[in-house]
Formats: sequence, C-alpha cells, structure tokens
Amino acid sequence: MFNSFLIKYGEIGVKGKNRYIFEDALMKQIKYALKKVDGNFAVTKDQGGRIFVEVKSESYDHDAAEEALKHVFGVIAFCPVVHVEDTSIDNLRKEIVSYVGEVFDDKNFSFKINTRRAHKSYPMTSMEVDAALGEAVLMAYPETHVDVHRPEVDIRVEIRDIVHIYSKEIPGAGGMPIGTNGKTMLLLSGGIDSPVAGYMTAKRGVIIDAVYFHAPPYTSDRAKQKVVDLAKRISDYAGPVYLHIVNFTDIQLAIYEKCPHDELTIIMRRYMMRIAEHLASENDCLGLVTGESIGQVASQTLQSLFVTDSAVKTMPVYRPLIGMDKQEIVDLSEKIGTYETSILPYEDCCTIFVAKHPVTKPKLQIIEKSERNLDDVIDDLLEKAYATEELVIVGKE
Ligand code: ATP
Ligand code: MG
Repeated sequence: MFNSFLIKYGEIGVKGKNRYIFEDALMKQIKYALKKVDGNFAVTKDQGGRIFVEVKSESYDHDAAEEALKHVFGVIAFCPVVHVEDTSIDNLRKEIVSYVGEVFDDKNFSFKINTRRAHKSYPMTSMEVDAALGEAVLMAYPETHVDVHRPEVDIRVEIRDIVHIYSKEIPGAGGMPIGTNGKTMLLLSGGIDSPVAGYMTAKRGVIIDAVYFHAPPYTSDRAKQKVVDLAKRISDYAGPVYLHIVNFTDIQLAIYEKCPHDELTIIMRRYMMRIAEHLASENDCLGLVTGESIGQVASQTLQSLFVTDSAVKTMPVYRPLIGMDKQEIVDLSEKIGTYETSILPYEDCCTIFVAKHPVTKPKLQIIEKSERNLDDVIDDLLEKAYATEELVIVGKE
C-alpha cells in the first residue's frame, strides 16, 4: 500500500551551500542502497528540501526497501507514505480507513489526525479535515479512540497537489552521507574489530578504501574471500569499497629470518602501516583507520600503539574503537551484520608467524635497530608487494 518514503535527515550544521552537498550526497546514497531492491524508485527533493523515495513500479519489495534505507548514513528516520491523488474529502475518508485497516493489526489504540495544507485554497481548514477523518476512523474502528494530547499513533495528513498519509517513523542509521567527508584507507583484516572501525568511520560520511595483507600459501583463498565478504558488508553502508590485496609473505618471511622473534608482531604491524600509508597517499586518502583498541592484545598496549604509530609519517591514523570494550565491539558487529563472517575460523596472516612471548612494551629505538637488519632487502620486497597488489572493487554494480 505504501507508494513512497519520506526521508528525515539532520540539518544541523548543513546550511547554505553545504546543504546542497549534503542533500545530493544523501540522494546518491539512497539510490545506491535501493539498486539491489526489487522495484523501480525515484529519489526526489521538493522545494522545502524534503527528500522522498517514490515507487515507480507496479509492485516492489517493501521490506527490502526498508532494510536498504536503514543502511544509508545521514538518514535520521524515514516514514512509509501513502500517496493519494484524489484529494476530495470523501475520498480521503475512504483512504484513511483503508490506511488504518492495513497498517495496524490491533486497532485498540489512541490516535490523532494531524493535517497540514500546503495551499490554503483547499475548501476545508486543517481542523475541519482532522475532525472529518477522525470521525471516519472512529466509525470504521470503534476500538480506537482519539487523544489529541498524547496519542499513541499520530497520523499525518499533508494536503498538497496530492495528499500524503503517514504515521510510522523508522529509525535510520544516523551519521552523515558518504562522500561528504573525504576518504580514508582502512586496514581490514578478517577479525571482528576492523570492519566495525570501517563502519564507524563511514558513518561520519567518509569514503572507505581498504587494504588487506595476506600471506599465501600460509593463508588460504578462503581467508581472502572472508575479507572480500566483510568489505561487501561495509559497502552496504559505505558504497563501493576499493579493496587492495597485498601479498605480504616475503616481507613476513624476511622479518622472521632477520629480526628477534619476540618483535615479529610489532615489526610486521609497522610494515603494514607503511604499506597502507603508501597506498593511501596514492589513492587520495587523508588518513589510515585501524581496529585497534587500548590493551586488547599485546600489540595494542600504549607502548605498542606508540611504536606502531611512529611508522606512519605523513598522515593521521584513526582508531575509532580506541576506548571500546571487546563486548561493545562484538555487539556493534552483530548489529551491522559483520560478526557472522568475522568469526569464521580461517587463519590470519599474523597468527601464523606469531611468537610465543611477544614484547608487550616495545621501545621504538630497539625496534628501529632490529628493522635495520632488513635494510638490504626491504626496498625490493616493498616494490614487489606494490607491483603485485590486487585490486578488488566490492559493491559496485
Ligand atoms: P581485527 O579483529 O580487526 O583483526 P585484532 O584484534 O585481531 O583486530 P590485531 O591483529 O592486532 O587486532 O590487528 C590490529 C589492527 O591491524 C586490525 O584491527 C586491522 O586494522 C589491522 N590488521 C591486522 N591484520 C591485518 C591484515 N592481515 N590486513 C589488514 N589489516 C590488518
Ligand atoms: Mg586480527
């Protein structure tokens, strides 16, 4: 029965020229989200800056459309709307009765009709329309009752060239539309944390590129596919994700051969950061994003984060999960739909070379000294890693 959606979005801080950038980005993302939904949709903006999704096909998958709209950042809430073309009061009485009949299974609720007229030329006042339609509902469904102060159901009737009827408001994803805040490079592993970090960054309107380090044959194609699948989940919110897959095997083997084993993890992490930084600047990203949170594992003590961070020279490293507990991260990953994939038990390139007792309080100077053992080989290895990079574009139709 619904043939359109009214999109509600936050307008704080988006005035003047920025408002158009915000609205255009939002409309683009809504179109992107609806591409995979059965049906034909048009996204429109009226003079008042209100954004509507109009259904253009005979039928469409309503539940899938709601689900898709819940994935669009910048949407505070949205309302399924019934459009009525015949604006005569007799027809509106009929329409409001069938609206209430279809939308509410249980009619035992209090309601209020809330009419607004765009043109004062309509032959009745808003209050007269409220009364006429309220009466129609009461007569058709005697279990309902009117409460104008604190109604359980607030039925909006907007009279324009056509009439909009709506009452249900579904919470959206919040945040800012993708594309309004630049681009970052996410270090995406197959774990629980980094996909959540990507989600949180994208939520603020940031486009996500991603890099994944694998170590064939120590890590399998299944492990790689898992990361592609996670990137797909992120793209449901963030739009297409350019996923750079870097072969890290030779660098890892060189570190294993030439550096103290209790420093393997931290040195490896520093090379991941350097490579990510290189790819980020080549792809116009303004920062790196990781899934680190203080104290979660040995490589995430403040000392380790200090040493890891020091490897990056030209851009900030964002760690949106820095203050979150593991359980909070798990809860969020369940909510955004990455958890199921993240817990698949495929090997991670870090776990294979991991030392029994990694240093938990590395010292930068000591680590830098160990890294000098790689001086003869590292430039060639980095060149080779860049040259063999594989790009997978995820979520692009
Ligand atoms: P996650 O669940 O995100 O894998 P984790 O708790 O396993 O995190 P670490 O393995 O210490 O933590 O990794 C810390 C961060 O480093 C990750 O959140 C991710 O951003 C990045 N990272 C780790 N391994 C990889 C990898 N193979 N490819 C890309 N990024 C990685
Ligand atoms: Mg990990």
